Formats: sequence, structure tokens, C-alpha cells
Amino acid sequence: MQTRPRIFVTHSIPASAREALAAESDLQVRAEDTAIKPEALAAVCADEKIEGLLVIGGRVTEEVVRRGKDLRVVSSASVGYDHIDVAACTARGIPVATAAGTLEETTADLAFALILAAARRIVEADRFVRAGGWKQWEWELLWGADVHGKTLGLVGFGNIGQAVARRAAGFSMRILYTSRHRKADAEGLTGAHWVSLDELLRESDFVSLHVPLTRETERLIGSRELSLMKPTAFLINTARGRVVDEAALIAALKERRLAGAGLDVFEREPAVPGELLAMNHVVLLPHVGSATTETRTRMALRAADNLLALLDGRRAANVVNPEVFNR
Ligand code: NAP
Repeated sequence: MQTRPRIFVTHSIPASAREALAAESDLQVRAEDTAIKPEALAAVCADEKIEGLLVIGGRVTEEVVRRGKDLRVVSSASVGYDHIDVAACTARGIPVATAAGTLEETTADLAFALILAAARRIVEADRFVRAGGWKQWEWELLWGADVHGKTLGLVGFGNIGQAVARRAAGFSMRILYTSRHRKADAEGLTGAHWVSLDELLRESDFVSLHVPLTRETERLIGSRELSLMKPTAFLINTARGRVVDEAALIAALKERRLAGAGLDVFEREPAVPGELLAMNHVVLLPHVGSATTETRTRMALRAADNLLALLDGRRAANVVNPEVFNR
């Protein structure tokens, strides 16, 4: 009888994904509701001779790959993979799969929610009511900015950027985007225009970030870029915190060189700088872009499917280092 692969899941997962994995593997699921520390993950991989790793939270560092001598597949329940040392996996011939295709619409919903919340001061208004501040009718109460008819600049025009563009079309927005390659088909569907990053920053009323975190995009938005934006513009970040120079953003917001920001991601999560916590013109979220019941379940199932397929020598969707199959 063939032995079943040993799988470790770094975080509890929905029952459907757990059952799918348990049916075909020798499964261990970590019960704690926190991100596992790399040293602990390396120890589990080494001690338990783990072959398949399903990553939900936590980082797969070089140490994890080095000490996990039996590792054959890494599958992440996310679309970003900056938490995985892909080069170390590739050097060992380990395919790394993501859950791309399961969470983009949900993340786009959240980006749009941040646009609306920042522009219309939704969170600030809620705090005002709860604090008993609403005592009389006031003509000038909590004026915000219109969203409809404004210019939206999308930095990154892949799955999420395009999904945000589809929503913006319903708000009659003018849509600009920047990416390495022009996307003629998506332009046709959304009416978006391809421009340089600088032009996008100068022209947009809302700048929304949708690039992956890579060496090229780290601190893509720094003080120079922020200085190109209109003082009436908002910055929305649902990509990764390190795409923005957080200190430069704080300075721009403090000096009102920007109207506001909507942030789901931060440079050193879960640390959120005190200066941001003190600002009313910033909406702050704890990295919940894909956090809906439906989507988190879909993400876990996709990651489980990818893991089982790859352990079984079958191809899977969204392997970020397909070169491992040509060795
Ligand atoms: P995607 O489909 O791969 O699209 C990425 C886009 O970024 C592409 O248009 C790509 O352009 C562009 N890009 C890459 N490098 C660039 C560079 N150096 N300069 C300019 N453009 C560049 O990814 P996605 O599914 O839209 O996701 C984007 C990111 O969102 C993920 O990587 C992840 O970090 C983040 N995310 C966050 C959450 C959350 O919970 N907040 C949830 C999901 C995803 P080309 O196609 O021209 O190369």
C-alpha cells in the first residue's frame, strides 16, 4: 500500500478543506490562531518529516526549506507570496502554489469600501455619532469628497486592479492605470487608460495600489511620488504595506499634502504607527482584504487542492515557479 503524504497546515482551516486533506494524507493542523514563527515551522517540518506544507499566516524562510528535508510542495492560501522564500524552494525543486483566482473580487470590494469610507468619512462619522457628538442639525457637518465622476488611478492592473476598475465604471469614474505591460483587452472592458506612474499620481483623485511586493515595488510610493499627488487626493493601499514608504506617507498626511488614506496593510504588521492611529482622515483596517466567510473557505479549499495535486505529481493552477517541473 502506498504511504500517505505527511501534510502540515500552519493554521486551523474550514472543515471542508480539512476533510479533503485528511482523506488523502497523514494530516496535522496547528490549532493556534496566530501566525506560526519561522523557527517553530522549521522544527515541525524537520521533526515530523513534513512533505506538504499548507501556509496560512507565517513565513516560509530559507531555514524552513533547509531544515524541512522531506518538503516536496508548498501551497499558500493567498495570492501574494512575498512571505515565501521562492528562490530557496526553487533551488530544492519544490513547487510553490498560490490561491490566485479565489479572492480578487473580495479584495476589490474592500478597496472600494476604503475609497468610499475615506472620501465620505464613514468611520469618523460613526465615531462622532457613538461619542454623542450629534446634538443638532449642522449644514457643515462632516463634509467629504465625491467619488462618482472622479479620477481613479490604479497602480497595478492585474486581477484585483481590474476588478476595482469594474466597480469604478459603475461610479462613472475616469480610470487610469499603470503596469509594466499594457492590457488592451481590459482597457476595452473598463475604459481604463494606460499612463506613466507620474501622470497617474498627478491626475488621480484616488490612487489605489494593486502591485505585488517585489524588489521593484518596495517603496514604489515614496516622498517624491506622494508630492506629485493632489492635496485633495486619497491614497488607498490593499496591496502590501512595504509598497509605500510609511514615514513619508505619515508626513504627507500630517502636513495635509494629501486629503486622506485608506489602509488595509502596513509596513510592520500588526504594528500601526501611533501617528496614524491619531489621524481622523485615515481609515485603518487589520489586513482583512479577503476576509469573508465565502472567500476564506474558497482560498483554503484551493490551497488544499493544489497541495494534494502537486504531491500526487499532477499539475496545479498558479504555481509561481513552474521552472521546477523542467529539471
Ligand atoms: P496580479 O493579478 O498578479 O496583478 C499585479 C499587477 O501588478 C499587474 O498588473 C502587474 O503588471 C503589476 N506590476 C507588477 N510589478 C510591477 C511593477 N514593478 N511596476 C508596475 N506594475 C507592476 O495580482 P493581484 O491578484 O491583482 O494582487 C495584487 C497584490 O494584492 C498581491 O500580490 C497581494 O500582495 C495583494 N493582496 C492583498 C490582499 C489583502 O488582503 N489586502 C488580498 C489579496 C491580494 P504586469 O502584468 O504588467 O506585469
